Amino acid sequence: MADDVFADAESWGFETRAIHAGQPHDPVSGAVVVPISLATTFAQEQVGVHRGYEYSRTGNPTRTALQDCLASLEGASHGLAFASGMSAEDTLLRTLSPGDHIILGNDAYGGTFRLISAVVAPMGVEWTAVDLTDLDALAGAVTPSTRMIWAETPTNPLLTIIDIAAVAQVAHDAGARLVVDNTFATPYLQQPLSLGADVVVHSTTKYCGGHSDVVGGFLASNDHELADRLAYLQNAVGAVGSPFDNYLTLRGLKTMPVRMDRHCSNAAAVVDLLDGHPKVSEVLYPGLPGHAGHEIAARQMSGFGGMVSFRVAAGRDAAMRLAASTRVFTLAESLGAVESLIEHPGAMTHASAAGSPLEVPDDLIRLSVGIESTVDLVADLAEALDRL
Ligand SMILES: *Cc1c(COP(=O)(O)O)cnc(C)c1O
Repeated sequence: MADDVFADAESWGFETRAIHAGQPHDPVSGAVVVPISLATTFAQEQVGVHRGYEYSRTGNPTRTALQDCLASLEGASHGLAFASGMSAEDTLLRTLSPGDHIILGNDAYGGTFRLISAVVAPMGVEWTAVDLTDLDALAGAVTPSTRMIWAETPTNPLLTIIDIAAVAQVAHDAGARLVVDNTFATPYLQQPLSLGADVVVHSTTKYCGGHSDVVGGFLASNDHELADRLAYLQNAVGAVGSPFDNYLTLRGLKTMPVRMDRHCSNAAAVVDLLDGHPKVSEVLYPGLPGHAGHEIAARQMSGFGGMVSFRVAAGRDAAMRLAASTRVFTLAESLGAVESLIEHPGAMTHASAAGSPLEVPDDLIRLSVGIESTVDLVADLAEALDRL
């Protein structure tokens, strides 16, 4: 395949772009895999005349490949890769000034809530947390200073669905930007920019990387002015991942579509077991017709994802015992990788939310359903529930 074939990359299907976008064959060797480019500095022919790279914080060929690939998958003209999801968020929040106001969902990712309330707010940015499923409450929270609305959908760990197009309308009426954290859905299942969002945020640590072996973050946008500012901040602040990190994330993206199909089908099988199980009082999964956000999810997502939460009927202690008694599901934080994980959010990922608007029920269990054998996953949970 000649490299000029890659000029057509934008017309390719999602799965093709996941493997090829931003990744022409290496011009030196023909290598079909983007090299891990370790050089920190790049030769210049004349002062200021070079091939697009000067210094590796500012730009790095492996990072460029990742940026071009994931931007393409998000339908974005601009993409920037960072050292973590939090550093991507931090860089984006630095576009705000003292006196600006930001609205975030009342069950935002805990790290996002901490960054906004404990790091950005003391620098003079005002914030309000609201239930983003309540559009009247959202409109009521808007002030003349509101510059940004920050949404996640599905949310963590309650798997609430936010109507991206409707929230984008409120944001744009207020002259604010809508940011959507697309970590749980991935661009394979949900395309926030096409629904009206202005910026997409990722923790690529989760489904994009997909193998629990690399921490990273991403910002994607079609807003040229904002993208210029973000690229300036990426270089000025310097929260970039290593070339090896970028390579691993790029490698993960290649299989993301097939992994997501399997995450979705395994999650559906697990939900079949849990829904109506006598030891389970409630299953939170947007694929269930009874889920409050089911219709919106069916409209704005092409699959319901691999995250499943449920409440254990016998209460907190039983939930804690269940989390420690599965064998295929590993008791651990994080999510979105090939191996299945189980956790107790109240005592683990969301422990710091106790007493805050983000507090979660103490009988709640969150599953990140992996891509192992469906039979093994369902049997593991069924046996653990029987033992309760
Ligand atoms: C993990 C996560 C983050 C933070 O990303 P890191 O890569 O851990 O810094 C942000 N948002 C969501 C929804 C996440 O799950």
